[in-house]
Amino acid sequence: MGRDQLFIDGRWVESASGKFLPVVNPSTGDVIGRIAAGGATDIDLAVTAARHAFETVWSSMAALERGRLLSRLGLLILDRLEELAQLEAADTGKPMKLARNDIRVTARYFEYYGGAADKIHGDTIPFLPGYQVIVLREPRGVTGHIIPWNYPASMFGRTLGAALAAGNTAILKPAEEASLSCLRFTELAEEVGFPAGVINVVTGLGEEAGAALSSHPGIDFLSFTGSPEVGTLVQTAAAKNHVPCVLELGGKSPQIVFADADQDKACEVIIGAIVQNAGQTCSAGSRVLIERAIYEPFMQKLAERMATVRVGFPEQDFECGPVINQVQRDRVMAFLERASTDKVEVVAQGKIHPDASKAGYFVPPTLFGLVPREHELAREEVFGPVLAALPFDDEDDVLRIANGTDYGLIAGVWTRDGGRQMRMAKGIRAGQIYINGYGAGGGIELPFGGFRKSGHGREKGFEALREYTVAKTVVIDHSS
Ligand code: NAP
Ligand code: MG
Repeated sequence: MGRDQLFIDGRWVESASGKFLPVVNPSTGDVIGRIAAGGATDIDLAVTAARHAFETVWSSMAALERGRLLSRLGLLILDRLEELAQLEAADTGKPMKLARNDIRVTARYFEYYGGAADKIHGDTIPFLPGYQVIVLREPRGVTGHIIPWNYPASMFGRTLGAALAAGNTAILKPAEEASLSCLRFTELAEEVGFPAGVINVVTGLGEEAGAALSSHPGIDFLSFTGSPEVGTLVQTAAAKNHVPCVLELGGKSPQIVFADADQDKACEVIIGAIVQNAGQTCSAGSRVLIERAIYEPFMQKLAERMATVRVGFPEQDFECGPVINQVQRDRVMAFLERASTDKVEVVAQGKIHPDASKAGYFVPPTLFGLVPREHELAREEVFGPVLAALPFDDEDDVLRIANGTDYGLIAGVWTRDGGRQMRMAKGIRAGQIYINGYGAGGGIELPFGGFRKSGHGREKGFEALREYTVAKTVVIDHSS
């Protein structure tokens, strides 16, 4: 299953090392294919190809034509929805419903940015008499993209859609654990007719292909999504070449429930948002902060709902699938074990379907109650279907808790009080705030990114086009 080559300069090629990495299905533990293990030599070739394509064809192509290619790719992805969703589900273990949604989101990115390509305007600035000042927004040039395994398809659309629309060329290093959909999208891009060198894909290990890309002096911009630890490595490597980057790292996003909330709606959305993708979502709402007056009854609702969650194979299409691999499973189970040692109360758990293979990487979705504020479950990103509940007293108290971790990615606020909605939105230090709802479900139009350890820079929406372009100021003296 899948393609075991790299895509460089418009051709499918073997990796320089001649080595491969196995592709594992997380639902069964079975090896279902292999990908090429790219490294520094391949990255070097890809950077040269991307530079050449940038200088000769891509940056000078009419924006309308660039946009059309992106839009066509979006439509072709939609045409192949079922095939792509099955590939994504086999590679990541996602339930089919989620995999289909991810593919639709990927297509949307290309349609959205395809339409945006010819709407990236510059500016004029009033200056001294006799002068005209024009600010051009130019592409950055050659961009590197390192993405994780949790949403490989939609990350492909998010990061490449914006970069390519703005006139940049790209080198993508997909996650070792989930490269198949990215390789298939690249085949479709080839079919659509993107010029050689505009999109280059080098699969392989993070420490090899990823490190070579982030430290390459020939790139102009870097986009990284993944863990804070690797984000630091990537940013440090880029800084040595003064290469700017956008980093999307993790989160410990709060769902804040006030006593006047629509509790049934909040409960449904909160459980859905933590079990989606088995909790492996950077913007997962992994803390629920509940106003003390309704703590008991609301926990009761959450517990009843959590107990209904079923975990199984993609084809069973339950709400929750396996986590990505054994390492991630061990990591999540270790959080559960430490919580048990620390006597943090398990209030409810979902159920793993008995048919789910013993070889698969399944973990039980778990709701913890009365989690101490300093406990790791209240502060650290688990990246699994684990929800930590904490009571709070008032607005000041909840803002202290909400802003009291190292992260600041997104937040949900559940209240009918309009003044409070705005006070919370302003008081919470996070890149997206949802009032009486949660999560973007794609939300390709909505600027997205972090504060603090959640990263910096913004992707999605038109905001991403600002990241992938740079202002150039032209000052014209027309006085003589
Ligand atoms: P990761 O190591 O940060 O991986 C993200 C990407 O960076 C992958 O493509 C990875 O390649 C690459 N990479 C790894 N080491 C690199 C290096 N030295 N230089 C350049 N690139 C490198 O994340 P992970 O190991 O997949 O997951 C670990 C933890 O990160 C998770 O448990 C979770 O807490 C967090 N995480 C967060 C997000 C998010 O969206 N915020 C996504 C995924 C994971 P390989 O895949 O080949 O290693
Ligand atoms: Mg896999």
